[in-house]
Amino acid sequence: MSATEELFREDATLLACEATVLSLDEEGLVLDRTVFYPLGGGQAGDTGWLVAPDGSRLAIADTRKHKGHPGAIGHVPAAGADLSAFAPGTRVSAQVDAERRRAHMRFHTATHLLCALIPHPVDGCSITAGYARLDFHMSEPLDKEALTAGLARLVAEAHPVRHRWISEAELDANPGLVRSMSVQPPRGLGRVRVLEIEAVDLQPCGGTHVANTADIGAVVVTKIEKKSAMTRRVVLGFGPAA
Ligand SMILES: [Zn+2]
Repeated sequence: MSATEELFREDATLLACEATVLSLDEEGLVLDRTVFYPLGGGQAGDTGWLVAPDGSRLAIADTRKHKGHPGAIGHVPAAGADLSAFAPGTRVSAQVDAERRRAHMRFHTATHLLCALIPHPVDGCSITAGYARLDFHMSEPLDKEALTAGLARLVAEAHPVRHRWISEAELDANPGLVRSMSVQPPRGLGRVRVLEIEAVDLQPCGGTHVANTADIGAVVVTKIEKKSAMTRRVVLGFGPAA
């Protein structure tokens, strides 16, 4: 089986595409190309719909990297869904749940801002549509109001956000780029995707982001928890629209 072309890596604003079903197994439907982001780097997998030429709509409940086929992405159908119109070879329109993905993008870029405000290694991350949380490897206390104000400032400053690809050699020459202790960037592909928030933050990341920090809108620190002697968890939520 061939790999799935990852359209979301180059353009996070692309929320629909035409594709062909390559296979169907217990890990879901594999397409030749997709706009669906698979769970990874802390970011939840996309949900949405596949639409067959006869108009049949198949709800997709989750998206995961296919365990048996490196490079393939499984679109997991909702439980009990009728798959009869989605046999391999079928041309489909793949449509991401745009509102949910938009929340992932806003939160994901916000977590990178948090990394810039808290200069400690990250040892855990979870980004959903309802909240985002980051675990920092540190023992010092954190101030909720100060962090919320710091995020608001970086959002208001409207920094451009862009990705680019660097060579593994370039990454090795800049070990400070890797902020996360638990998630190292994937190796062996020759190149690594890095996400730059101009003048604020630069780190390897495969996730989907907004194009400018202004697009994050209102985010607030809802909770700070001491998870262990050396772990501080910061939870983000969306604030009221300005
Ligand atoms: Zn990231």
